[in-house]
Amino acid sequence: MPHRAYVIDEMISAKSIAARIEALASEIKTAFTGTEKLIVVGLLRGSFVFIADLVRELDMNVEVDFLEASSYGEAMESSREVRILKDLRGEIGGKDVLVVEDIVDTGFTLKHVVGLLMSRNPRRLETIALLDKPSRREVDIKASWTGFEIPDAFVVGYGIDFAQRNRNLPYIGKVRFTDDEPG
Ligand code: 5GP
Repeated sequence: MPHRAYVIDEMISAKSIAARIEALASEIKTAFTGTEKLIVVGLLRGSFVFIADLVRELDMNVEVDFLEASSYGEAMESSREVRILKDLRGEIGGKDVLVVEDIVDTGFTLKHVVGLLMSRNPRRLETIALLDKPSRREVDIKASWTGFEIPDAFVVGYGIDFAQRNRNLPYIGKVRFTDDEPG
């Protein structure tokens, strides 16, 4: 699959992402008014660029931690079975937590992670996803905040990969296979 020829069509520009993150950060700051410290939990690896930009817009006391759940691997389809590959370093019991996800697709990953973290009794837990594909949802979950709703397309860039490539693109783009096309 990675050896198939493809091009990337820009879907969301770096500028639109930056503007959206500024607005989201302001909503988050308001929602967490009075919070002494916010534990921002990034889901690896796809959220690393998003979390880096988001925390720099959050002028409040934040701590950053990471969790890695099993992902697509080399495939383009969700496995529906979620495993934790790397757990948090810190404790979240009694704390205010914001989980940062790159894309909510079927919803299995976010649902599983939220269930796991809720079992540790945080004081409050909210979620934010840069992208949401509502038409793909298989389990009932929605992030507290969403950057952009997108149609059912396979996207890359801004931290999101295709078989480990294209994470370094500054924008979100849609993968289009050129070997499917006539001519
Ligand atoms: P879910 O469990 O909601 O089906 O899947 C969520 C995870 O699948 C995301 O965190 C992301 O890693 C991966 N994913 C979903 N859609 C896409 C996509 O369009 N492109 C890439 N590269 N990964 C995706």
